[in-house]
Amino acid sequence: MIDQHAPDDAPTCDRCGDAFPTADLLALHRGHAHDALSEDERAAFEAAREADTESLRLFRLQALGALVLLYFGFLMAYAVVT
Ligand SMILES: [Zn+2]
Repeated sequence: MIDQHAPDDAPTCDRCGDAFPTADLLALHRGHAHDALSEDERAAFEAAREADTESLRLFRLQALGALVLLYFGFLMAYAVVT
C-alpha cells in the first residue's frame, strides 16, 4: 500500500478535512458530498462541473475516434491480407 500525504498547501475541505490536488476537485467534492453551500462554493462547483463535463465529452469523442480508426484499420488489413 502506498502511504500518501497531501502537501501542506493542498486545497483542503473545511467541513471534513480531506485534501485534494486541485481547487476544482475540492469544489466538486463540496458539491457532491456536502449540503448548504455558499454562493461562492456553489458557483465554483458549477464551474468545475461544467469543465469536468466538457473534458469528459472530449475524452469520449477521442475514444470514439480511436475505435473508428482501429476498426477501419483492421478492416483494411483484413481486406488486403485475404
Ligand atoms: Zn468535505
